Amino acid sequence: MKGTPPATVSAPLADMGRYTARARQGEAPIGFLALPTSTHRGKLALRFVLLLLLSLFLGRVFASSSPDRAVAFDQYAGKLERGEIAPDTQAGVLEALAHMKSLLPPGDARRELRYRYMYCIMGLDASPEQAIAYAEKGIADARRLGYVDAEINFDFCRGSNQEALTTPRDALVDYNAGINLARSHENQRLVADGLTWRGSVQSLLGEHALALVDFLEAQKFYETSGAPIESEDNLFNIAVAYRRLGEQAQARDYLDKLLALGEQRHDRAQQLAAHMELGFLESEAGNQSAAESQLGKALALAHAVDSRSRGASIHLGLAQVDNLQGHYREALDELAKAQPGFARMGDRSNRDMVLLQTAEAHAGLGQYAVAIGEYGQAEKLLQESGNLRYLAELLDARARSYQALGQLGPEVADLRRLVKVGEALDRKAHSDNATLMNYQFQTAQRDQENRRLAADRALKEQQLESLERVRHWQRLALVLGGVLIVLLLWLALRQFRRSRKLHRMAMTDPLTGIANRRHIEQLARNALGHAGANGEPLCVLVLDVDHFKAVNDAFGHAVGDQVLVRVAQACKHALRRFDMLGRLGGEEFLVVLPDTSMDVAMQIAERLRRKVESLPLGSLAPGLQITASVGVAEAEHEADDLPELVRRADTAMYRAKDAGRNRVEVVARAQVV
Ligand code: GH3
Ligand code: MG
Ligand code: MG
Repeated sequence: MKGTPPATVSAPLADMGRYTARARQGEAPIGFLALPTSTHRGKLALRFVLLLLLSLFLGRVFASSSPDRAVAFDQYAGKLERGEIAPDTQAGVLEALAHMKSLLPPGDARRELRYRYMYCIMGLDASPEQAIAYAEKGIADARRLGYVDAEINFDFCRGSNQEALTTPRDALVDYNAGINLARSHENQRLVADGLTWRGSVQSLLGEHALALVDFLEAQKFYETSGAPIESEDNLFNIAVAYRRLGEQAQARDYLDKLLALGEQRHDRAQQLAAHMELGFLESEAGNQSAAESQLGKALALAHAVDSRSRGASIHLGLAQVDNLQGHYREALDELAKAQPGFARMGDRSNRDMVLLQTAEAHAGLGQYAVAIGEYGQAEKLLQESGNLRYLAELLDARARSYQALGQLGPEVADLRRLVKVGEALDRKAHSDNATLMNYQFQTAQRDQENRRLAADRALKEQQLESLERVRHWQRLALVLGGVLIVLLLWLALRQFRRSRKLHRMAMTDPLTGIANRRHIEQLARNALGHAGANGEPLCVLVLDVDHFKAVNDAFGHAVGDQVLVRVAQACKHALRRFDMLGRLGGEEFLVVLPDTSMDVAMQIAERLRRKVESLPLGSLAPGLQITASVGVAEAEHEADDLPELVRRADTAMYRAKDAGRNRVEVVARAQVV
């Protein structure tokens, strides 16, 4: 993590802030307008045009370039953050960050903060104190802007530097803060990132089971969200945790796979890390020469990617391997090479291990007193960090140094403590086991629950689907039913209209359009019944066209028909609204006059006679004129039925014929009988 110190970053940013503030206040246009305007109009117009052009130009610049820059910045930052752009040297990382900064839209506080947290995590190479101050300023700015993701990332950045400043344990506060914030904002990606950071610390603290649980949980997110690079990084963490838990076979599987993937992707950083871990694994498995070979490959790669911190760790590892092989001078050489790397980085987290290995080398060389002094310093640090495994190693080694010096008391004291630490380590192994089993149990339970939920969901979807199918058929049935009902209604209506038409036809005289004999007799019967019931008078008329045969003979049957039509129309118009007219047959008509006494009936009959007499029929045949004879009869309620009444009217009509036609006659009942 080498690069420019934060000061060189913040200065240009601050400059940029001032620049944008000035631009926002619009100093330049105001200055331009403030030119003396008392000169003549031409200058004023020119100035106006220039101003217009300038504002158009500025409008274009701000409208087109700023959003483009923002999009380009976001895309680049996203790629860098997701590891799609992954430079494998620190110089490359700094170059990428510089490019990202060059894309920053002016005055964009949120994006500036995004640049800063990425710089803090990936590029910042200051002392831990300075880096922590940088992160804390970021946290404060993120809170002010309400930019939660930035705050979380600064928490992680602070934590990673806290690890180097004091002990890894102190970083847990920061990682937990970031994880909790990410959880409460349901940002699963940052939760996973935080779990990875925290897992690494747990791992360093010897809490390998807790570490593994964090990594495995993070891995679930990375695998489901399709983040292949983070997923690989995290697989690496899982491998390390397995190694530290003593699960060598599982660790080796992961590391071999990761090494192959790193070679495939030409990712030297990953190859380096895999070789380093394989080196530690071989050493722990007792294969010191294999360990040396792996660490040798790692060292070559560390030089290639310019990673001094990795280089220092590898030298430390090599020192340990040398000590285990009894190559104490070589071990001291390696430690000498490691120390400046750690010192330059201000990284004190490895001091306990450096001291322990130095002490072991000195002890190996017979410099017991020196070694005991170094063991003492290492012991303090190991107790602080709570690393029981190395504390046990230290106590065992120091006891041997005391033994060599013949100091029985301290030797026994160390051995006694060794027993205690051994017991604590056993307890730790038990609790690690319990942690893992609990995690596995919970995971299995959660998986089972998820499967149950998925099955429930599938069942519900199936039910919904069949319900939807039923609904579909229901809708179809409804539509078909509706169509059927409409069809039936239409048929019924058609049938009704037809029958009405038939009914009308059955009641209507087809030639004249007035009631036919059957209908007028029916109407007459009803009227007679009504009159009888109410004691009202009722009269009927029988009207017969005179010498109609002669009309037919003289002008033809067709003209005769038209004459009958005219007669019917004329009579209809001459009658009152409630009078009834019908054709009895041939040229004979029946008129029913409800609620009408004889004298009124006589007047009506006379009116009809005159009407027929004066019918203008010249249009049918030149000189054509007709007359009609009318017989009148009044109902006498005691004895009358319709045939009797009509017969009397008929008799009266014949009387009119006999009396010379074209007249109205009455027959009294007594006269007929
Ligand atoms: P009268 O004055 O005595 O009533 O003499 P008339 O000729 O009118 O009477 P008659 O009963 O001798 O003749 C009736 C004629 O009416 C006979 C028939 O040809 C004619 N007629 C009956 N129905 C129709 C019809 O629907 N159309 C036409 N054009 N003629 C008809
Ligand atoms: Mg007749
Ligand atoms: Mg006649």
